[in-house]
Amino acid sequence: MQFVDLKKQQEGIREDIERRINTVLDHGKYIMGPEIAELEKQLADYVGVKHCISCSSGTDALLIPLMAWGIGPGDAVFTTPFTFIATAEVIQLLGATPVFVDIEEDTFNIDPVLLESAIQKVIEDKQLNPKCILPVDLFGLPANYSEIQKIADKYNVKVLEDGAQGFGGSIGDTKACSFGHAASTSFFPAKPLGCYGDGGAIFTNDPELAAVMDSIRVHGKGSDKYDNIRIGINGRMDTIQAAILLTKLNIFNNELDQRDRVAGKYRALLSPQYQVQAVPKDYRSAWAQFSIVTDDENHRKRLMSKLKDEGIPTAIYYPLPLHLQKAFSHLGYTQGDFSISESISQRIFSVPMHPYLTEEEIKRISDVLTK
Ligand SMILES: *Cc1c(COP(=O)(O)O)cnc(C)c1O
Repeated sequence: MQFVDLKKQQEGIREDIERRINTVLDHGKYIMGPEIAELEKQLADYVGVKHCISCSSGTDALLIPLMAWGIGPGDAVFTTPFTFIATAEVIQLLGATPVFVDIEEDTFNIDPVLLESAIQKVIEDKQLNPKCILPVDLFGLPANYSEIQKIADKYNVKVLEDGAQGFGGSIGDTKACSFGHAASTSFFPAKPLGCYGDGGAIFTNDPELAAVMDSIRVHGKGSDKYDNIRIGINGRMDTIQAAILLTKLNIFNNELDQRDRVAGKYRALLSPQYQVQAVPKDYRSAWAQFSIVTDDENHRKRLMSKLKDEGIPTAIYYPLPLHLQKAFSHLGYTQGDFSISESISQRIFSVPMHPYLTEEEIKRISDVLTK
């Protein structure tokens, strides 16, 4: 059994993928070929925003908007410690300061009440300027953007949605990756929509921001790439990856329905016994992961090894919250600062989640966990 079964997905689309890759080999425009603009148009339409800028990874998709806003030393960016390192890494790369805010116990996403207190504290301390909120759509579930946006408006800070896992999710009729002033996603192979390498995209309705980000993506280009009007990066997506994503986008909505099916079945079989991620009313998750919360570290260890004995792979997202990572030790956080993130990190693990899991496989996994 696979944790994410990309092989099964490929069986259904292999011919289309090869045909689209061959088209790229024929025209030879490996950098910024015609598939890039085609993909950006389709992604923008899908999400329901005016501008999409494809880029080299989900990490660069976070870095580029922060660079465009000029975020740097002396600036505070508020985010969750219960996420992948990239979320806070980009803040630090620019010399700004990540300010962590604990998560909600039921959704695992940033807690808006604690967020507002953290912003007020930074204002009172007068050491840093509050500039941006960087919420994460953890495991595919959008964060609470109605509350977050109210806070952002009140304190006049930007919101950058880290939708690396959230692409495909929604709140009501509003799709993930359209929240905030800008949103980022990742097309790393194991994400809900993945390519066959690294890739990412940024979304915004702001035409001026889009123009600056387009320039940053190609070394701060002006009228062309040898006219450099700002410092940028080499942040382009490969044409071949765009061709692959165009094929996978055709089956994506169907795959989301299948992820809902798998999550629904897991929930029915497991939630009487285990805490699973709460999905608030009107929210839809892209189900990047399906995770269960155990009693304690030993309980988790026992369950994971039971599953392993049955040939069922598992993973821990995330074993150590970012405020306790060595890379952020200079920030001076200690154990106990974010008790919910710490407690969940010690107890959570994820079971196989992909659109091609059969009912029998879900039943077999659940049986090991409940019997
Ligand atoms: C995967 C991920 C990223 C980084 O994406 P890459 O494409 O691997 O650079 C950023 N944030 C979160 C929450 C992620 O899960």
